Amino acid sequence: MDRWTSLPWTPFYTQQSANASTSAVSVDDQDSPLLAYWSLAATVAFTIVVYSFEGHLDARQKISYQQTSFPTELETTLQAKFRSAQTYGLDKINFGILAGTYDTAESVVFLLLGFLPYVWDWSCQLGQTYFGYHDEAAYETNISLIFLAIITLIGTVTQLPFELYSTFQIERKHGFNKQTLSLFFTDKIKSLLLTCLIGGPFVALLLYIIRVGGEYFYLYVWAFMFVFSAVMMTLVPVFIMPLFNKYEPLPDGDLKTRIYALADRLQYPLTKLFVMDGSKRSSHSNAFMFGFGNNKRIVLFDTLLTQVQEDEILAILGHELGHWKLGHTLSNFAVTQMYFGAAFYFFSLTYGSRSLYAAFGFDDVSRPVPTIVALLLFFQTLWAPVDKILSFILTITSRHNEFAADRFSVDLGMSQKLQSGLCKIHLENLGAMCPDPWYSTYHYSHPPLVERLGAMMALDRKTK
Ligand SMILES: [Zn+2]
Repeated sequence: MDRWTSLPWTPFYTQQSANASTSAVSVDDQDSPLLAYWSLAATVAFTIVVYSFEGHLDARQKISYQQTSFPTELETTLQAKFRSAQTYGLDKINFGILAGTYDTAESVVFLLLGFLPYVWDWSCQLGQTYFGYHDEAAYETNISLIFLAIITLIGTVTQLPFELYSTFQIERKHGFNKQTLSLFFTDKIKSLLLTCLIGGPFVALLLYIIRVGGEYFYLYVWAFMFVFSAVMMTLVPVFIMPLFNKYEPLPDGDLKTRIYALADRLQYPLTKLFVMDGSKRSSHSNAFMFGFGNNKRIVLFDTLLTQVQEDEILAILGHELGHWKLGHTLSNFAVTQMYFGAAFYFFSLTYGSRSLYAAFGFDDVSRPVPTIVALLLFFQTLWAPVDKILSFILTITSRHNEFAADRFSVDLGMSQKLQSGLCKIHLENLGAMCPDPWYSTYHYSHPPLVERLGAMMALDRKTK
């Protein structure tokens, strides 16, 4: 949802043709036009306020990357690594500021010029010319899919220069990028095909439920989102991730035996243990776990295996399994579902208000406001401030959970190895070493390394 709302477009707005049809949305054209312009102004103002605030954080973080002395917690590490991490961070944040400025400018210009009504009219015309969709209301779902396809394609094209620069300039310069141009474009094409195959039917069903669901449609949408999330969580690792990477069982040996022993000790129903060829794209490293009920899998990036020792891998898995044991995985799923529930409930309250859509160029009362447009505008306007606040709360919760998972691994007796493992990964990945406190509070899902090490060192002192 969030992705669409930030997508770009062409800067022409043509007046809608008077194409009379019955309205799918109840019309309250008594609403004051003042309210309509106010909501447009408020959305533009909010977009700019968010940009200014996040820009301020970027500027602060930029200063932190210019620091030349590193925190005492990292004394033992190499000064050279520190310098590389600082230049990598600086390159990334300069690029981030540029990309963020472009995205915000694009959003504001598109809002003011009426990109959405323009693309909607264009989709109606394409539908009429090529598929014979003469009745806009009757073929709303099909036209909505054309509309989304156009928005997705335009978004893909305008984001392309930024992605190419980030991958083949910044990541390459710092030695992380391992992918070729052909792999990059193959990935893009695969992603677009998957978006059509999965996103298309998903959107069609969603629009159908909203249209036929009556007054309480948000409850059905909520149930649908729950089922869809659960199905995707099962299908993505089994059918979709293998389209992008190779997953091979970890070869028999000491590491495998020890990981199974750790899983046993924590009663984690580990059924499969994979190594993923992450090095095909990047030398960044990671580990993750997934699966439902009694069928759980752990995936180690091949890059992780070369960067840290066996003991450190076990300590890192101790942390990951801590997330599971402490119920973080399940609570994240529950929170996401509550988020959807709240979002669609509030959407149901605004769905019938014509004035909101009128402010964004859908002011022809003889035509229905397309449901897909109502959804996009809701998430881009009224929901955007709520979304920022909820995301911030989630970020805080996530950092809290990271500390708890660290503590879990420490309690397993792996404090030293977790500390050294995290340090190595952080250094290999050239992570930020002394991030600005405001920036990290707002953006980081994981606490800064120094804070994590500090917390573990404090726990170590307590147990001594
Ligand atoms: Zn974690």
